[in-house]
Amino acid sequence: MTDAAESPRTNFIRQIAAADLASGKHERVATRFPPEPNGYLHIGHAKSIVLNFGLAQDFGGTCNLRFDDTNPHKENVEFVESIKEDVRWLGFDWGDRLYFASDYFEKLYDFAVELINKGLAYVCELSADEMRAYRGTLTEPGKDSPYRNRSVEENLSLFTRMRAGEFPDGSRTLRARIDMASPNINLRDPVLYRIKHGVVHHQTGTTWCLYPTYDYTHPISDALEGITHSLCTLEFEDHRPLYDWCVGNVSVPSKPRQIEFSRLNLEYSVMSKRRLTELVSESHVHGWDDPRMPTIAGLRRRGYTPASIREFCHRIGITKSDNLVEMAMLESAIRDDLDAHAPRRMAVLRPLKVVLTNYPEGQAEEVEARNHPKDESMGARRLPFGREIYIDRSDFEEVPPKGFKRLVPDGEVRLRNAYVIRCDEVIKDAAGEVTELRASIDMDTLGKNPEGRKVKGVIHWVSAAHAVPAEVRLYDRLFQAVMPGAGGADYRDDINPASLQVLTDCVLEPSLRDAAVGERFQFEREGYFVVDRDATPERPVFNLTVGLRDTWGKSKK
Ligand code: ATP
Ligand code: MG
Repeated sequence: MTDAAESPRTNFIRQIAAADLASGKHERVATRFPPEPNGYLHIGHAKSIVLNFGLAQDFGGTCNLRFDDTNPHKENVEFVESIKEDVRWLGFDWGDRLYFASDYFEKLYDFAVELINKGLAYVCELSADEMRAYRGTLTEPGKDSPYRNRSVEENLSLFTRMRAGEFPDGSRTLRARIDMASPNINLRDPVLYRIKHGVVHHQTGTTWCLYPTYDYTHPISDALEGITHSLCTLEFEDHRPLYDWCVGNVSVPSKPRQIEFSRLNLEYSVMSKRRLTELVSESHVHGWDDPRMPTIAGLRRRGYTPASIREFCHRIGITKSDNLVEMAMLESAIRDDLDAHAPRRMAVLRPLKVVLTNYPEGQAEEVEARNHPKDESMGARRLPFGREIYIDRSDFEEVPPKGFKRLVPDGEVRLRNAYVIRCDEVIKDAAGEVTELRASIDMDTLGKNPEGRKVKGVIHWVSAAHAVPAEVRLYDRLFQAVMPGAGGADYRDDINPASLQVLTDCVLEPSLRDAAVGERFQFEREGYFVVDRDATPERPVFNLTVGLRDTWGKSKK
């Protein structure tokens, strides 16, 4: 992939940023990526990361990494660390601008006091159920809380006591005093603070028993950091008036603008963190970095490159319309990258032994094989060749289907980078299973066709004497349905029971013995593979990254 191919396409947000710089509204672009540390990042987050960091990069601005950590129950340091690792791996740098919303708890508290003093916030004693009943519906206005008209003094006193820990969970909230009749339910006196005793926050420990809500924290954090363009997904569109209300009513140093874009939805995947958490905790997959997961950690272990994920994000673009992206889009991005950059190797996944009966016993030689068909700079390697080789079971058919071009009884095939062989004899076990082939080699066919004969098929092989035994893990889609759980069904019912197939008897050409964890190759005629972190010096383990060709179009259910 060239750098030019990765250059971002324009979109409406870039146009807004460019216009704001041109008009002098802003002197610089400042964005932020604000994950909640309650799970690992997924490919949807990558879209947001590439947008936020990419925008800042292209306009010479800055992008902050800010953990939105206002909900300590489900958050932890493992998630904080994994998120940092994933953002870095994707190729982005927040420099010294790493923040936590919890850094602002003291300031947020002071702003809440400011709101109370302005008559714009009050302590409410309605229970959660009562509050819901008072809120009204989309068609009916809400009712004022009986606590709405408390005096400033009473509110200040109660809010101080809330902070001091005098009241139990759920007994009181601090609410914005906006408009219970607003057609926008988000403006019907939303909760700004709730009481949570007994939680240990991963950053602030037990300092606080009062936690600000996301809707209150987010705009003020943006304003404190001087964010110019606060980019978020479409479900926050209805929250924008509240965002503006918050930054408009407290003494923050800047007024960021919220702009919404549509979130990424990917076919055959789930993307909500709740579901991803369940897949892990209920052991439907082997952890957050299971190669079948749409997490960044999973994609990395699957063999995706950072460049391919960035490229995917550029290709899908940024719009305001909700859509479902085809899995083939994601796969073509990594396939294009690996096609250009992955060295070619030979690996036999389902070995069938072939004895070349006319090749002298004890003789050995090496043939040359290029590492890439188009890129000469990737060089070549020597492959040992000998009397016994392995080919893939699927490259031999006793009763060939129509159009089968590979090895058949009494037929010829070319061994890639080597010679033409002819199958003379098929050996079977008692059950009738083919266990070995006897073949003869035409030593006059290295790099050229035999006189007067056309050999159409070319197959890959590995020398038996030098073969490196290995495990190869093949992955299929994690879900069988395009939209798992659509129509209210349980998304777990759509889990594909055959999403992982482990092949334990594979053989590799010897150069693969020393491949390092994370190294990627094309196994010729099979697909692209990456060394898994389970690999040991004794036993290489490879993951299938992606096949050589797109098969999604054919198989869509
Ligand atoms: P979930 O709803 O699954 O818990 P979230 O949106 O709450 O996810 P956050 O950690 O809050 O997850 O997300 C951080 C940022 O990433 C937010 O700005 C959010 O809008 C963005 N984001 C999350 N999911 C997607 C997605 N599928 N596509 C694009 N951006 C996303
Ligand atoms: Mg969120």
